[in-house]
Amino acid sequence: MVKIRRIKKKRKNLAQRRLRLVVLMTALAILTTNIIQCAGNFTSQAVGTVDPMAMPGNFTTQIESTEIVFGVPPAYQGKVFNKVESDGKEKLVALTFDDGPWINTTTEVLEILRKNEIKATFFVVGQQLQKYPQIAKQVIAEGHAIANHTWHHWYRRMDEATAAKEIDDTANLIYKTTGVKTNYFRPPGGVLNNGLVAYAQKRDYAIAMWSVDSGDSRRRRPTPETLAKNVLKGINPGGIVLMHDGGGNHEGTVQALPQIIEGLRQQGYKFVTLPELLASSQSDNQ
Ligand SMILES: [Zn+2]
Repeated sequence: MVKIRRIKKKRKNLAQRRLRLVVLMTALAILTTNIIQCAGNFTSQAVGTVDPMAMPGNFTTQIESTEIVFGVPPAYQGKVFNKVESDGKEKLVALTFDDGPWINTTTEVLEILRKNEIKATFFVVGQQLQKYPQIAKQVIAEGHAIANHTWHHWYRRMDEATAAKEIDDTANLIYKTTGVKTNYFRPPGGVLNNGLVAYAQKRDYAIAMWSVDSGDSRRRRPTPETLAKNVLKGINPGGIVLMHDGGGNHEGTVQALPQIIEGLRQQGYKFVTLPELLASSQSDNQ
């Protein structure tokens, strides 16, 4: 009996020791993570414009205060649309750029938009965002809207779990990279029946198609002049223009953009982001 009790006691002691070890290891792990996080915060502060004397707590507040949500008016939640009804007061147009972030082209587009004091909407692809997070940060820092264009840019039919992963993974990386929550979605290739749009509708995304295709994704790329002509001829108030900053060589789009902006201005158009365009017509749709 005594022997059994001793063995039990021994086991108990061993279990307690193991428990202590686990607690100690956990505490050590937490401590190490905190130290690494602190170091990270301090580095960000030191290289940024934030007062280097400010403590990590302030830095956290700063992240929270820069969170942006591109929400969707109720009338457009889960809806597929290619333009909005103009309220007749102003001629509004939304320029949209798909398939980035892309090396060179996206930053060139951003520079032209900046010079012209115009805001646009960028439909980003998750795997591109993973490659060029800094470009996406610049898109947001310069006041543009960002939207979800799936992770892989697949056209094929997919089951709900795959469609969910395509959209949710991209949404999560957009948030992780830019602090933005966006409820705007465009299916790759404009394919409406492969499972992506059905999932996006379930999640109350606004499914933003386009009213004018610049033609810049055609295999034989039109000249910049033709791209500009396509947009300027096809536009109507409340329209959405489809262009590409990624998914191949789009220097032609970059070259056409100043002509497109100038031509639309001459027609009296004002440039807005998609969330702004939808907000402008909210009263018409409710
Ligand atoms: Zn696309």
